[in-house]
Amino acid sequence: MTELEIGDVTVDVVFKDIKNVHLSVHPPTGRVRVSAPSAMNLETVRLFALSKIGWIRNTQRKIKSQERETPREFLERESHYLWGKRYLLRIEDHYGRADVLLGHNTIELNVPMGASFEQKRDLLLAWYRDALRTASKPLIALFEQHLGVEVRRFFIQRMRTKWGSSSPARQSIRLNLDLARFEPECLRYVILHEMAHFIVPNHNANFVALLDRHMPDWRLIRAKLNYGPLAEF
Ligand SMILES: [Zn+2]
Repeated sequence: MTELEIGDVTVDVVFKDIKNVHLSVHPPTGRVRVSAPSAMNLETVRLFALSKIGWIRNTQRKIKSQERETPREFLERESHYLWGKRYLLRIEDHYGRADVLLGHNTIELNVPMGASFEQKRDLLLAWYRDALRTASKPLIALFEQHLGVEVRRFFIQRMRTKWGSSSPARQSIRLNLDLARFEPECLRYVILHEMAHFIVPNHNANFVALLDRHMPDWRLIRAKLNYGPLAEF
């Protein structure tokens, strides 16, 4: 995959055995992808994308202001993802105390009979948050060593349009709670990306070189994040 920068818009270009060039904008981040015939040169693709820039920006605005997909209802057998694997939700009432048990193919919510939608959602979100926090700590420690930087604080929150963010001045990073639903390598990539900003604040060639050195397949992983299935909590 090749990347084009058109102003502040990044366009992923994929060359394929197709006749016509095709441009699309993908939720949830508004990522832009152009599929182009193999014979087309990159400059032609750039001009094509540039001619659509108004439409791209409009569509990105819509995506960002839109509610994402149908909300989950926390019903028996509803699908939920953890670390890239699909589980079926089970609602149980074994004992009075609320908790979550991970089975082979199930996520079991133990909630009092008649628990509300909000109770079930909050219980599951807290459980995802714990899972993400636990998984993040060793990865942060690993990249602290590899990059020679220190993360003083990290936060987990639900974000609509980003996978993470960082403040080099405060030595803090923020991670999107949704990352718990993707393959673990996605979390690894986002942590590396945000920590690499402690060294290079923007996405210039030095930044890309840092990513290449510490995670050679980061482009593939990022594509999973940007195009992977994403259902709403
Ligand atoms: Zn960045």
